[in-house]
Amino acid sequence: MPRVEGGCFCGAIRYRVTAPLAGAAACHCRKCQYGSGGGPNYVVLAPRAALEVISGRPVVHASLADSGAEVSRTFCGACGTPLWSDSPNLPFLAIRAGSLDDPSAARPGLHIWTEAAQPWHATTPGAALFERGPTG
Ligand SMILES: [Zn+2]
Repeated sequence: MPRVEGGCFCGAIRYRVTAPLAGAAACHCRKCQYGSGGGPNYVVLAPRAALEVISGRPVVHASLADSGAEVSRTFCGACGTPLWSDSPNLPFLAIRAGSLDDPSAARPGLHIWTEAAQPWHATTPGAALFERGPTG
């Protein structure tokens, strides 16, 4: 598998992922709608220890998810690009697909929190759909 790298729109933040990605997903929860600007949040899943920030200092915002778990969202403080999300409840880091240098392989295998999806949100044909999150 080719090395996965990414960064933000303005180039201040660069990162690499040093292990194979574990999959790709889309989250429709209301907080992800804020984070994405309206649509679901498209992410690839990576082992937490596999993420290395190469350059820049991203900003972290912590909040409570709909599941009650604390979620931290990391973004570029200069250009605002969302970069990744993390929660101690989840086995993987959720890296925003749009921040990858090549997002083409980030086709979601599952959609979560579809009960919060807007009526005009699309889902990926063939993907598994979950009304709530993996941790309920
Ligand atoms: Zn930036």
